[in-house]
Amino acid sequence: MPAFTELNLSPPVLRAVEKAGYTEPTQIQAQAIPIALEGRDIIGASQTGTGKTAAFALPTVSQMIPTEHPQCLILEPTRELAAQVEDQMRLFGHYRPMNVVLLHGGVGYGKQSEGLSRKPDVIIATPGRLLDHIDRGNIRLDGIKYLILDEVDRMLDMGFLPDVKKIVDRCPSERQTLFFSATMPGAIQTLANWALKEPAEIEVGGRRSPAETVDHCFYPVAMDQRDELIEELVERTDFKSLMIFTRTKKEADSLFEKLKSKEKAKATVLHSDIKQRDRTKALDGFRSGDFNMIIATDVAARGLDISGVTHVINYRVPENAEDYVHRIGRTGRAKQEGEAFTLLSADEVEFANAVEFYVGQKIERKKLDNFDYVYTTLLQDQPIPKRRRPPAPKRRRR
Ligand code: AMP
Repeated sequence: MPAFTELNLSPPVLRAVEKAGYTEPTQIQAQAIPIALEGRDIIGASQTGTGKTAAFALPTVSQMIPTEHPQCLILEPTRELAAQVEDQMRLFGHYRPMNVVLLHGGVGYGKQSEGLSRKPDVIIATPGRLLDHIDRGNIRLDGIKYLILDEVDRMLDMGFLPDVKKIVDRCPSERQTLFFSATMPGAIQTLANWALKEPAEIEVGGRRSPAETVDHCFYPVAMDQRDELIEELVERTDFKSLMIFTRTKKEADSLFEKLKSKEKAKATVLHSDIKQRDRTKALDGFRSGDFNMIIATDVAARGLDISGVTHVINYRVPENAEDYVHRIGRTGRAKQEGEAFTLLSADEVEFANAVEFYVGQKIERKKLDNFDYVYTTLLQDQPIPKRRRPPAPKRRRR
């Protein structure tokens, strides 16, 4: 692995890397930084927790020269991710003059419009709110030189692709575009072909495998014993910081009510019905350690970089196999060890099979000792499911 000092980053950025405490580049950084510094477009697939943010942020900040208008635009699918990237951009721009503005929904326009009037160098935005500001005449994108489309598959899931296209259309065609997506379904490939010019392709690790530092397993359980089992798991697990993912907001609220009174739990809850101010409080508190447990819906929590998470519990098997990898990717980040448990009920076997097929790995089924199971029929070892071929068409007899 080359050292950061060998990557041709500007001196203020190198100082910032030192301030961040990074000693050597991660794989994606070592690959992406030299290419980005040549001014080339990049299409990158990378697992969460691989240092992707710095991989696009460091070369971009390094190349920027002061101008009178926004020159770097970063699109993120969620407010939380946008805020997280804002923190990193501020950190990497610490030793050079750089004005950053964050635009996302759920809050008023006043402060954001004020920020825009100060002619920021960098805009980090969710697509809808950025378009609102454009429509209000608060901002033009014709000076953008660096366009970063991050977590594009998530933007697709959330229905943002039409907005993203409109935004890309408003940027000058002479620009550098860095494009990151964990998966590349057809719609994303089409967008990439349209938005990028002769991109260099970067892929770090299998797109599908969970981080190697995560120990993960299923806990089969009857549907109506889920809460009981999760309470017991929480009780018996020696966690420093625990994220629990639920499928619905209602499940998140109900689990929060059950777990918040546990002695070892300093719990908080995060989902999209919670006011932005309280969401920020929940996240900041979890990051700082004021809370040691956060119960979140996947939508609210995907892609968040929260370091030092020791445990993840999935209240249900994710319906979408990719989400499994994303969720358990919260732990075991930046080479730390982590553990992830997923509750599995009979109605979720199909999803569990899909996850095992997706990660190409049999996931161990565990039973909690001395737990009063009503029944568990799912403990027997099954082979990794094979991809089901569509049945061959029947031959007609002539
Ligand atoms: P990301 O994949 O961008 O969400 O980054 C995951 C975590 O790794 C973040 O907490 C980063 O601060 C951290 N990180 C990124 N690059 C490095 C590096 N070169 N050395 C150590 N930690 C890093």
